[in-house]
Amino acid sequence: MAQHEHVRVAVIGSGFGGLGAAVRLRREGITDFVVLERAGSVGGTWRDNTYPGCACDVPSHLYSFSFAPNSEWPRTFSGQEHIRAYLERVADTFGIRPHLRLNHEVAVMRWDTEAFNWVIETANGSTIVADVVVSATGPLSDPKMPDVPGLDTFPGEVFHSARWNHDYDLTGKRVAMIGTGASAIQIVPAIQPRVGRLTLFQRTPPWVMPRADRAIGKAERWLHRTVPVTGTARRGLLWGIRELQVSAFTKYPDGLGLIESIAKAGMARAIKDPALRAKLTPSYRIGCKRILLSSTYYPALARPNVDVVASGLAEVRGSTLVASDGTETEADAIVFGTGFHVTDMPIAERVVGADGTTLAETWKGGMRSLRGATAAGFPNWMTIIGPNTGLGNSSMILMIESQLNYMADYLRQLKVLGAGTALAARPAAVDGWNDRVQQRMKRTVWNTGGCTSWYLDENGRNTTVWPGTTADFRRATRSVDLAEYDVIRAPATARPPTVVAQRSGGSRTPGGAPQAAQEPAAAPNAAPRAVPHAKNAGPDRPVTEEATR
Ligand code: NAP
Repeated sequence: MAQHEHVRVAVIGSGFGGLGAAVRLRREGITDFVVLERAGSVGGTWRDNTYPGCACDVPSHLYSFSFAPNSEWPRTFSGQEHIRAYLERVADTFGIRPHLRLNHEVAVMRWDTEAFNWVIETANGSTIVADVVVSATGPLSDPKMPDVPGLDTFPGEVFHSARWNHDYDLTGKRVAMIGTGASAIQIVPAIQPRVGRLTLFQRTPPWVMPRADRAIGKAERWLHRTVPVTGTARRGLLWGIRELQVSAFTKYPDGLGLIESIAKAGMARAIKDPALRAKLTPSYRIGCKRILLSSTYYPALARPNVDVVASGLAEVRGSTLVASDGTETEADAIVFGTGFHVTDMPIAERVVGADGTTLAETWKGGMRSLRGATAAGFPNWMTIIGPNTGLGNSSMILMIESQLNYMADYLRQLKVLGAGTALAARPAAVDGWNDRVQQRMKRTVWNTGGCTSWYLDENGRNTTVWPGTTADFRRATRSVDLAEYDVIRAPATARPPTVVAQRSGGSRTPGGAPQAAQEPAAAPNAAPRAVPHAKNAGPDRPVTEEATR
């Protein structure tokens, strides 16, 4: 039989989630791991999205790892190239390069019920065996193109915002921009000055608030470099403000009316034409869709070379684009800013669980996991930025770091249980967690605000956003509650795995304290117990291979 590389942990993806997982593994003293990356470099969505104007709408001092503060951010909202460079530096500083397997796209990963490990086949023909898989492929990795009839008849250039064709010169061209999401509102002001004519196909107007972007001066950077606590304080302030906003989104959406007035005032300042203002004014509660931040979007729309078609792209007839309302537009190029496969994560089709079912089949009625991480039927497998871990108003890096705490504890628990064991999320625990999340979701602006968004799946269930503060999620993922898992052990002979230890009852509410748990059922040959929880990592120092071996 062929010998395959066998590792303790395989991390899939090398964006913020995958690199963060890799750093955390090394800090936990685990060096027997690989990071499988389908592209030729690290960076995830910040590598793939190179469209003009691409930047983060979360302030940089919050949109970075707590263990890798960066005093050198050039702007309050830094651009894609700086975020990508930051991730490259993280890979270097924390000794992640030796673990990287670039150009290793996962074709399929299967749980082997006999050997009790994951067998991962990559598109380049290699096979890697891993005891544990940490899937960090992210929700924004696979571009979504709408199925527009006649698109294949278009003679011009067509590309997606996340696959920008830099070889195509837009200068003087008639460009159709499809969509008005976070990507499109950055692209529009960036390309408007050089295109001949820009036609924006707006299916739903977004709420747009001003973005207080500015350069961070030398003195400010010097201060953060020489007195690091000032950077920490800045991060803390940015975090605290956003935490205070959460209850408006989750409990009191009517209170968001005031924010709508600010957004409308910003629009009125930039757009003098009442007809255009009417087209651009949303009819749903602010926050229902992601609130977009830009101080240049509305001014760009007011320019004479821009048209807004208040209707979606419905059909293409050669070089004529037809909107749902019948408006016809001639174009040389179409740019799709139509988002990503979020609620139908393509990686789920490639994960095959204990009974041969794929994760996509398991998630057919909607994505569901335990604490955003694990899924019933998929032992020793977890995901970073899984179901209901998204945020409407703060930094996803905070959520990722919470999930890394959970991952670290999961691996500690497995170590205590010994070789040949796996933790399998109990279906009742998964259901309980999701029921409680959905219960909390009922009052939120995402569910009640009167819009349709990619936060909701095709069944109208919100499987993407976390209905609480980041502190709530930090508490809910501090450690693994073994009551929520079956501890299964590899069979001595060829037979399905048997449950050797199981705790019944007891689970924590989302963001809440543990509910009363029943005593663990007596286990014949295993005694699962929580291992002491390590303190979270503090401010970082460079980590080298030698330092953590
Ligand atoms: P998105 O938010 O999913 O927006 C897709 C847009 O395409 C929507 O406006 C949608 O309209 C529109 N659309 C789809 N089909 C259409 C059609 N046939 N005709 C016209 N419009 C159509 O995608 P995105 O802008 O790429 O953003 C995705 C996510 O990426 C964001 O929510 C955010 O999480 C992230 N992102 C973040 C930043 C950042 O600064 N942090 C920047 C960019 C992206 P409807 O609204 O009617 O559905």
